[in-house]
Amino acid sequence: MVFARRLALVLSLTGLPLGCQPKQEVSAEPKKVSKKKEPKEGAKTEKAREAKAAEKAGEAEGEPGKFIVPFAYEAAKDEPLAQTRAFLGEMLQDNQDYMTHGDKFFAAFADKQTPRATVITCADSRVHTPAWDVTPENDDFMIRNIGNQVENAEGSIEYGIEHLRTPLLLVIGHTGCGAVKAAMGDTSKLSPAIQAELQHVHVPKPTAGKPPETAWAEAVIVNVNNQVETALKQFSKQVQAGQLTVVGAVLDFRNDLQQGAGKVSIVNVNGNSEPERMAAFVDAIAGKKEGEGKDGKDKKRGSSKLTDTAAAAAIAEQIAKLGGHRAAPAAERAEAHARAEAKAEHAEH
Ligand SMILES: [Zn+2]
Repeated sequence: MVFARRLALVLSLTGLPLGCQPKQEVSAEPKKVSKKKEPKEGAKTEKAREAKAAEKAGEAEGEPGKFIVPFAYEAAKDEPLAQTRAFLGEMLQDNQDYMTHGDKFFAAFADKQTPRATVITCADSRVHTPAWDVTPENDDFMIRNIGNQVENAEGSIEYGIEHLRTPLLLVIGHTGCGAVKAAMGDTSKLSPAIQAELQHVHVPKPTAGKPPETAWAEAVIVNVNNQVETALKQFSKQVQAGQLTVVGAVLDFRNDLQQGAGKVSIVNVNGNSEPERMAAFVDAIAGKKEGEGKDGKDKKRGSSKLTDTAAAAAIAEQIAKLGGHRAAPAAERAEAHARAEAKAEHAEH
């Protein structure tokens, strides 16, 4: 079975370049019908048939599957074809580099995937696994759509949780999310397909007096919280049984939350979004006891307690401005927590 599958794969891969050879399909001209030796009396009808076939071939240029393989005639770097060729060139080179991982690396997961996380994140090109996992192979079951929406990807998420049995569902939103911004405004002018794709992003509309950038960053967090809630409804049984944890996070490559560009902040765990709980959760992940680093040697980890608490407080501040959202009281608690910490570190524990 495995051999047959690999053979099929090899065949399909070796067949690929042949199908792309320019000589076969590159001409934009209508295909010429080859002349066959035929009786003279049929020549007239044959010619007419040829003309019709040529005409048909010309019409067929616009049909799916009949497009030409483009080649290099572009004059400027920013032309679509030039960009495409540059990207593909880099892709093939990068893939060569990737292959240097070697057989052993790939053999480890060639026949079965065993990811630990189902990850739903935005399709945004600025969001990629290195932000949270530098070795995502066989570990991150990745699902993406604009606005990191759970309902749009129900089947894939269900597959990750129920069939691959990942113990973690990670919803990762990001600052600067175009889908969130679109949903904050008037979507009626967008195409029906995009309107439909955005239907599960429910965020507050911008309000007068609030800086648009702040409102946008807040809406990103609201969307992540909403998506976590949706997932919790669908997978409540697994969460109750302790088989699944649903975590919401925000990747902030714009430093909107002022915790450093590129920071991934956990903002929600199983529906809990209170910053002090998030901070405690992050500490627990790092294996820290309350109020101290993991051990004396690990200075970096020791200091992350403060960073994470500050991050949580900043997020709380953002959320606090939402008014009416359930996260608001949590933000107040976080502020109190931050104040207490400023007076005497860890005094409240
Ligand atoms: Zn986005």
